[in-house]
Amino acid sequence: MSQLIVFDYPPNMNDIDAVFHTRGKPVLYTYGHRIYNPLSMTIPPALTVHEAIHGMRQADHMTDITNIKVDLEVSVIEWWRKYLVDPHFRLIEEVLAHREEFKWHCRQPLMNRQKRRAQLTKISRRLSGPLYNGLVTHKQAARMLLLSDADLLAHILKGKSNGSG
Ligand SMILES: [Zn+2]
Repeated sequence: MSQLIVFDYPPNMNDIDAVFHTRGKPVLYTYGHRIYNPLSMTIPPALTVHEAIHGMRQADHMTDITNIKVDLEVSVIEWWRKYLVDPHFRLIEEVLAHREEFKWHCRQPLMNRQKRRAQLTKISRRLSGPLYNGLVTHKQAARMLLLSDADLLAHILKGKSNGSG
């Protein structure tokens, strides 16, 4: 999915800022088919991949829950609402996006074991960092990024049965 870049804050910035305090910081926000880039930063290709995952998940969010095709805007609003209040949901969404970002690096020419390791460290450090309110430790983040689809799905279902999703 190709997303349109908008050099502004997303429509729900007040809600986002109340949780993450990211106003004025170089952060990207996906809102359906658009990436909001308020500080006009250069977006590396790996982050385009990351944001595209959020965009796809937002578009499918309500359909996944209700099995009924709903308006994109409604689905995006509901995804964001849940993302801001539900740490388990947020963790899964971010693991999915960070994992694709890591895979993008792994696909690059001249990639080797050492560079892969360095990317895993860098990406898992961000996933475990203050941007996401410290959802997991660095070690847990790195482990989650390396999970297979099946193991990640098992992790998601476990979280649901705990009543947090
Ligand atoms: Zn993300």
